[in-house]
Amino acid sequence: MKIKIDQKTAVQNVMDLLAAEGPSFGEGPVAELVKQKLLAAGCRPEWIHENVGKKRLTKKFTVGNLVVKIPGTVDAPRLMFSAHLDTVPICRGAVPLKKGNRIVPKGKTGLGGDNRASVAAVVTMVQTVLQKNIPRPPLTLLFSVGEETGLHGAKAFEPADGGNPSMCFNLDGSGERGGVIGALGAIRWEASVQGKSVHAAVNPEGGISSAIIAANAIAALKKEGWSGRINKRNCNGTANVGTLHGGEVDNQVMDSLRVTGEWRSHSPVSLKKISNIWKKAFEKAARELKNDRGECGSVTFSAASDYHSFRLKKNEPVVKRFLKAAPLAGREARTEIINAGLDANVLNEKGIPTITFDAGNHHAHALNEYVDIPRYLEACRLATLLATLP
Ligand SMILES: [Zn+2]
Repeated sequence: MKIKIDQKTAVQNVMDLLAAEGPSFGEGPVAELVKQKLLAAGCRPEWIHENVGKKRLTKKFTVGNLVVKIPGTVDAPRLMFSAHLDTVPICRGAVPLKKGNRIVPKGKTGLGGDNRASVAAVVTMVQTVLQKNIPRPPLTLLFSVGEETGLHGAKAFEPADGGNPSMCFNLDGSGERGGVIGALGAIRWEASVQGKSVHAAVNPEGGISSAIIAANAIAALKKEGWSGRINKRNCNGTANVGTLHGGEVDNQVMDSLRVTGEWRSHSPVSLKKISNIWKKAFEKAARELKNDRGECGSVTFSAASDYHSFRLKKNEPVVKRFLKAAPLAGREARTEIINAGLDANVLNEKGIPTITFDAGNHHAHALNEYVDIPRYLEACRLATLLATLP
C-alpha cells in the first residue's frame, strides 16, 4: 500500500502546534488548536469530546483530555492513537524556526517537540485518511493532558471513554527508537521518622535524633547495594532519596524528619523486594538508636504506585501491526524496552495493549531540543499506515 503525505501541510501542522501554548495544567490553547485543525480536516463536531476525565483530574487542570471518535468505513476492531498535549516549563514562550532539515527554538527555550511533533503526526494522519478517503476501521484519538507531571490525563482516561479500543499506538519520546514494548514501574514513597526532642547541649543523651536514624538507614542501604542502581542476582532496579525535610532549630535534637524518594524496576517482584528492604532498613535504624533511658524512635512508611511496568509479547497484535507497518514507512522493524514511564504504562495497565514510537523529536526537556523533519514525516506516514493497513 502506498501512502503519500502532503509534506507541506504536515510541516505546517508541526510549526503551528509548536507555537501554541500548553504547559501541563494549562493545555487549553493547544487543545483548541488541535480541535480546529481536526474540524478543518473533516471531523464532525459530534465526533469530538472535550474535557474527557476532567472530573477525575485535580482542580489544577484547566481542561481535560481531548478525545475524538472517528467512525470506521470497514468492519474491524477500533484502533486508538494517543499523544500527550502538554510541554515542560522550559518550553514556555517557544518560537519554532525552520533550519534546513530541522525545527529548532528561535530563542533560549526548549522547543516542545516533546510532544507536539507527535500531536502533529496524529493530526496529519487524520487529514490524510479523511481527505483521501482511505478505508479505515473506527479510530479513537486520545490527546492527553498532564503527562509530564505524572501521566495524569492517561490515568483519568477510561477505555469506555474511547469506545473500548482493541489496541493503541502512542506517539511520544525523544531520540530515534524502535517501538517501545516495555517500560518500568515506579513507586513514590515517604518515610516519616520520629525521634525525641531535647535540648541539644543541656541533655543530648536524652534525645533521639531522627536525622541520625535516617542517615544510618540510608548509609546501610548504600553500603549493601540497595541505593542508586540495584543489580542483584534476583533483583534489579533503582532507588533514590529525593528530599529530606526536618528540624526546626539548631539547639534542639531533631525529633521529626520526612524523607521522600522513589523506587523503579521492570519487575513487580523486584519492586516489592526493594520496598521491603528499604522499610526494614529504616525500622532497624530506628530500633538501634537509643537514648540514655533505652528509648528508641520509630518510622512510618507510606508508598504509592506511580505507574506499573509492562512488557508486551512479540506476538501481541499491536506489536505485529507495528512491525508490519514500520518498514513500509521507511523505519526499522525494531522493538525496545526503556527505563522511563509513559502514558503507555497506564494504558497497558487499563487493558489497552499500547506500543509507543517517536515522531522525530530530539533532546526533550533541553535548550537544544529539535525536531528532525524527515523523521517526523516518517512518523506521519507510519501513523497513517497503522490506521489503515487491512
Ligand atoms: Zn513526552
